[in-house]
Amino acid sequence: MDSKNGQYSIQGVSLTKIASEFGTPLYVYDAEKIINQLQSLKNAFSNQKLKIKYAAKSLTNINILKLMKKHGAGVDVVSIQEAQLALKAGFEPSEILFTPNCVSFDEIVEGVKLGLMINIDNISILEQFGHKYHNKVPCCIRLNPHIMAGGNTKISTGHVDSKFGISIYQLPHLIRVVNTTGIKVTGLHMHTGSDILDAEVFLKIAEILFGVARDFPDLEFIDFGSGFKVGYKENDITTNVYDLGVKLGKAFDNFCESYGRKLEMWFEPGKYLVSEAGYFLAKANVIKTTPATVFVGVDSGMNHLLRPMMYDAYHEIVNISNPKGTQRVYTVVGYICETDTFGWDRKLSEVREGDILMMKNAGAYGFSMASNYNSRFRPAEVLVLDGKAHLIRERETMEDLLKGQVDLKI
Ligand SMILES: *Cc1c(COP(=O)(O)O)cnc(C)c1O
Repeated sequence: MDSKNGQYSIQGVSLTKIASEFGTPLYVYDAEKIINQLQSLKNAFSNQKLKIKYAAKSLTNINILKLMKKHGAGVDVVSIQEAQLALKAGFEPSEILFTPNCVSFDEIVEGVKLGLMINIDNISILEQFGHKYHNKVPCCIRLNPHIMAGGNTKISTGHVDSKFGISIYQLPHLIRVVNTTGIKVTGLHMHTGSDILDAEVFLKIAEILFGVARDFPDLEFIDFGSGFKVGYKENDITTNVYDLGVKLGKAFDNFCESYGRKLEMWFEPGKYLVSEAGYFLAKANVIKTTPATVFVGVDSGMNHLLRPMMYDAYHEIVNISNPKGTQRVYTVVGYICETDTFGWDRKLSEVREGDILMMKNAGAYGFSMASNYNSRFRPAEVLVLDGKAHLIRERETMEDLLKGQVDLKI
């Protein structure tokens, strides 16, 4: 995104124009930024047999999936429906890693039928998998290294209470199941949560994986999950992928040498690829002064962008309609009948009713977590591609709200 003379634009297309053409609330994605992020990962790990499995759950619009495919990424999915979307977007089954948690064995079987690479994170499922497929269907195993990453237990998945992965303390049991059933384990995986931050934590996780890997002779890849941190505020520390490329690359090369062959290195970034590429536009419906603060009430709420309310996530807010206005302090809230605050005490250029507010870092877990709560329509989505704004999801209508509801004669 550029801001010249207070005009905010993506690839030369003005964001206020996009808002007036497509209406609000609206998600806008910058394809160029997504492609650049992909490229920076490829550059950082150019010495490796790298595979990037885009974490589809962060933003599942089929056009985003197609863009990922076109630019050489594979995909990581967490449900059979996401797998079907990925197939529809043109991914080969072999490019899709299926990493579900607490699903029934039937869903795993469906995944095998579709030809996906299955990532198993539970010994009970592993046993069933082994009994059914023996060495006929390779799989990946998700381990929990019990490393507390990211500091926030809502987004950290590696801590001891976490439901994700097979504990590394269960390794003896795990190996017993693998050997008894003859399962061919071709991948080891860890994803300890979002916002891991630095290379040192990745390295710690890697050392644990390398230690475990020696017990699995058929490996073809090691999947380091995600955890890349992106900037939400100015001066936020972010994961330096080049630094990671050098440090993790070196550790991986050493490991591969002792393992006896060069394995593929996999990552599953969601946020890193799409967070900063997304902007959420909402209109200031009302300004409301109370004894405590000045509220801006926008035409959206927790139904459209849940992260501030669910994770206390900080999303920078900018008034793009009045960029040169006097700075004032506001609390930006939604129109849902719940406390749905986007941001307290934000300095914004004076907001007038009707102005468009832009929330940044809205690409990941924005639309994909949106709901119809309060019977509101979900936002439309726009992708700016090759210097042009394309509608990639229509705004919903009453028909969408009623779809599937059975009308009893009462
Ligand atoms: C959610 C998830 C990711 C993506 O995490 P980000 O923080 O968005 O990069 C990767 N792998 C798995 C298994 C996940 O569940």
